[in-house]
Amino acid sequence: MRAERVAVDANRTVSDTEKTNLLDKKTNLLDKKTNLSVGKTNLLDLNRADLDLFFADLGERPYRTMQIMKWIYHRGVIDFALMTDLSKVLRARLAEIAEIRLPGIVAEQCSVDGTRKWAIRVGNGNCVETVLIPGSGRNTLCVSSQVGCMLDCRFCSTGKQGFNGNLTAAEIIAQVWLVQRRLQELGEAQGITNVVLMGMGEPLLNFDATVTATDLMMDDWAFGLSKRRVTISTAGVVPAIYELGKVTDVSLAVSLHAPDNSLRNELVPINRKYPIEELLEACRHYLDGLGERRSITIEYTLMKGVNDSLEQADAVAGLLRGLRCKVNLIPFNPFPASGFERPETETVKAFQNRLMNHGYATMLRTTRGEDIDAACGQLVGAVEDRTRRQARYIARVQAQGATETA
Ligand code: SAH
Repeated sequence: MRAERVAVDANRTVSDTEKTNLLDKKTNLLDKKTNLSVGKTNLLDLNRADLDLFFADLGERPYRTMQIMKWIYHRGVIDFALMTDLSKVLRARLAEIAEIRLPGIVAEQCSVDGTRKWAIRVGNGNCVETVLIPGSGRNTLCVSSQVGCMLDCRFCSTGKQGFNGNLTAAEIIAQVWLVQRRLQELGEAQGITNVVLMGMGEPLLNFDATVTATDLMMDDWAFGLSKRRVTISTAGVVPAIYELGKVTDVSLAVSLHAPDNSLRNELVPINRKYPIEELLEACRHYLDGLGERRSITIEYTLMKGVNDSLEQADAVAGLLRGLRCKVNLIPFNPFPASGFERPETETVKAFQNRLMNHGYATMLRTTRGEDIDAACGQLVGAVEDRTRRQARYIARVQAQGATETA
């Protein structure tokens, strides 16, 4: 339960029963966000509304939320002792019951094109990856939301690693915090300007943590990024898109990849549960809540001979008619034993032109960081796979290698 959902209208009288219910909910919230093994609440797990509840519980004034957020996110200070505008008593109390715990960076790689990738150690000995893509006047951070992924999209190597759990909100927001600090250390003038939840995992299957983290990305007391510059990307978890519209106005990207259900069922198996028509209806509904000047990004990974024909471009154009969207074409990024290939540049261009002729703003996502396996769909981290999908995949790669060398 997120804090906003327990907020009450300030102008209304709150009955005693309601008060008790609210307190119960508050306690549940804090219980849920308290790390039982350490017994302390990691403040990185709390958005502004959660922190308000946290400080109210301590009998503190509401402005403590602003003070602590500015320390953590503007000044990068995570030691309570250094937070000099908090009273000594409060600092001591915080040190007893709370912590600001960041996951560690275990590796950093830099591509010849300037793309940087970090492996970040999260729970259970797993690692996830986060990627910084510098561009003209912008620094886009591609953040992971889960350890591995449950969805097993056929052309995505993260899916092949299997799934081993959700990241906490702290582990998601920490990716932004750590990279922002690292950029300062490197003396970069430009900080992070955009965040996309396009790393490992399906963000909408880790709903609460993702929303809490994106709240912080967009909060002026934290990273203060515009809602147009923070994007959640989904393979199409339809009910979660409706839920999302109730709690945030973050930007949305949807991975379409096919113009019809029979092909999409194969490429993106979650389509069998939530087919294209339902997905696009959910997108329309989400957009209705955002206002006229916003649009959705449609992602379309182009795979040779699979979904890259001009007829398919026409079909995509037909499907998207009436939806305020821009299309982002991603030429397939290869990985071992994927079974797919990237189309020729001319095919990609022709597909793009066709969509543009139909009137769609269509961008081509240039492949970045390929030399360090940092491109879309290449992130693997180190996933202790509970589903054993990883072992099956490795066996397949080895078997293929054996036939190729035979
Ligand atoms: N689960 C989310 C985020 C995934 S990654 C989602 O599905 O949207 C972001 C994008 O990269 C998705 O559109 C995904 O389909 C795409 N992608 C995955 N593997 C790829 C590959 N090998 N080449 C190109 N794009 C890929």
